[in-house]
Amino acid sequence: MEKEMNVTDNDNFDTMADQELIVLRKTISVDQKFATGPVMGKFLTALKDKRILAIQCPECGRLQSPPREMCAICRVRNREWVEIGPRGEMRMMEYCYYSSPDPLTGESRETPYGAIGILLDGCQKEEVFWHLLRPEHLEMVEMGIVMGDRVTRGTRLRPVWAQERSGSIDDIKYFEIDE
Ligand SMILES: [Zn+2]
Repeated sequence: MEKEMNVTDNDNFDTMADQELIVLRKTISVDQKFATGPVMGKFLTALKDKRILAIQCPECGRLQSPPREMCAICRVRNREWVEIGPRGEMRMMEYCYYSSPDPLTGESRETPYGAIGILLDGCQKEEVFWHLLRPEHLEMVEMGIVMGDRVTRGTRLRPVWAQERSGSIDDIKYFEIDE
């Protein structure tokens, strides 16, 4: 069977190899709009008014912010809205030395920067909100830790709002030490 090679296909392959390949290097930009939907849209709209909203699961009661339509643990639709924060306590920080380009702008953030998980007032346990820490405060913050009965309070933080807000997660510039 192996000896019955298709001669015609082989000829085509050779012809293609002789052709000059042309490479076009272009960055294309396509303007586009997409709907944020009723759940994420409500969250983003509230940011314009300097309010942070969470959505609550009707079964387990956990809060999610940014909100999800469903509670993935209970597999039920979330319906109740709760305003949280805007102040809170730092619980986790990822100290980032490498920055990937922002898919929306193509720009990379200055490094190092701190991606932080903040337990906003009104939230508990793992209900942290992820955002950025003010770069100048990178070395000045403490993480809060809960291990069994041992609770260490993290640094209190407050959001710094952008002067002009458009209903985007960037309406919060970053969180800074609240003192
Ligand atoms: Zn749930």
